[in-house]
Amino acid sequence: MSFDYDLFVIGAGSGGVRAARIAAGHGARVAVAEESRIGGTCVIRGCVPKKLMVYASRFADEFVDATGFGWTIGEARFDWPTLIANKDIEIARLEGLYRQTLGRANVAILPQRAVVAGPNAVRLADGTLISARVILIATGGWPQSARDFPGAELTISSNEMFDLPARPRRLVVVGGGYIAVEFASLMAGLGTETTLLYRGEQILRGFDRDVRNHLTGELEKRGLDVRCRERIKAVSRMTDGLLVETENGARIEADQVLMAIGRVPNTAGLGLAEAGIRLDAKGAIVVDAASQTSVPSIYAVGDVTDRINLTPVAIREGHAFADSVFGGRGVIVDHRLVPTAVFTTPEVGTVGMTEDEVAAKGGAYDVYRSTFRAMRHTLGGRNERMLMKILVDAVDDRVLGVHIVGADAGEMIQLIGIAVKMGATKADFDATMAVHPTASEELVTMRSPSEHHPARAVIASHAL
Ligand code: FAD
Repeated sequence: MSFDYDLFVIGAGSGGVRAARIAAGHGARVAVAEESRIGGTCVIRGCVPKKLMVYASRFADEFVDATGFGWTIGEARFDWPTLIANKDIEIARLEGLYRQTLGRANVAILPQRAVVAGPNAVRLADGTLISARVILIATGGWPQSARDFPGAELTISSNEMFDLPARPRRLVVVGGGYIAVEFASLMAGLGTETTLLYRGEQILRGFDRDVRNHLTGELEKRGLDVRCRERIKAVSRMTDGLLVETENGARIEADQVLMAIGRVPNTAGLGLAEAGIRLDAKGAIVVDAASQTSVPSIYAVGDVTDRINLTPVAIREGHAFADSVFGGRGVIVDHRLVPTAVFTTPEVGTVGMTEDEVAAKGGAYDVYRSTFRAMRHTLGGRNERMLMKILVDAVDDRVLGVHIVGADAGEMIQLIGIAVKMGATKADFDATMAVHPTASEELVTMRSPSEHHPARAVIASHAL
């Protein structure tokens, strides 16, 4: 049977672009449909613009701290439209690079929406029906919309944050995940009076509890108003901005209200159920370890499968899919021990298990924990403390988790991730010579555990 293409990719984001390019490199005839801009969430409205804004937000600290090192700095002023315009130029540049890469690989780019029309068919928005031997769904995710309170329509999502015409003077961020916390932190750094409202007991659910507590303290020191166990009740318009009312009776005035309450897989209206593709309760596509759906000719990678929703994971899944299906070698992505960062100021870097996860296993373990003021803050006079925590299996000495809060934690955890992935023991950390003077030397110089937890009966993790 002949098909228009060997591979049809729906969505030109992190996972889709990589899969299309690699499959084409293996000789497949490939087309990719994109309804928005090439590059997807990460490049257009995620990691990249966010990190540029994080960089912008950190200059204020440098200007203040520099005085302790002898500098006299004139009046520093920040111009939001300049940042947004320069960010847009950079993103257009990256989008162009992605487009070039696909073009060079002979991947056909179809700039419109596509939906699944059968095991080997997709339908474009203009009605064209295209056949393909294999279909890859890489449609990513979308901010969960807020509808359950009056005035929800006055709020914005992370998508709009990148294009606001003016910097809000006052901002309320609702949510406790990494996107909420990162935006709250960076906007506070840019001088916006920021309140973070989170309905749970502590921000960054799923992260190590010491990290969550330490980061909250540091963010508060920097003037961020973190309010946990707070639910938004209503938003209304005032003459000067918006009024946010919470269920606990707080009234907070704001110029913008950012809802960062989670993301949903982009599967609505894609024709998936009709094609027999199994979805989970959240609407994510159910796939096996090879990213194959319940329809053998249809695969899915990235956020739409809701495994680990990060760009490097989507890229790895797209690459493995292309190598397996078109390159003749079966590659399975290993989703264990994925290092991650939260780009707050200070940053979080984490790899491996949290202490609650280690405790739930029931085996004996040691905790190495250190909090200290980094050298760079001494003359600058900044009252910021770093946290480093290593969790070690007390029986075989293996490092189970490393958690860092402090400057450059994201950079550090990328490298520590290699050691942990290789199965490093605490003795390996100890045998590594320190680089002095650095903050990260603390990771190889912590000698005595701050806590030893003997083995105990395993208790269900939901009881923790
Ligand atoms: P996406 O990149 O979302 O791409 C999907 C593409 O499909 C989109 O371009 C969309 O327009 C297109 N599409 C959807 N439906 C259709 C259709 N029917 N037809 C045609 N095209 C369609 N990850 C990190 O690793 N580090 C970070 O620091 C980080 N920061 C983030 C910050 C924010 C604010 C957000 C929102 C996300 C962040 N992420 C980060 C997550 C990261 O962006 C995603 O994990 C990643 O983009 C997922 O890639 P993907 O290929 O699955 O989907």
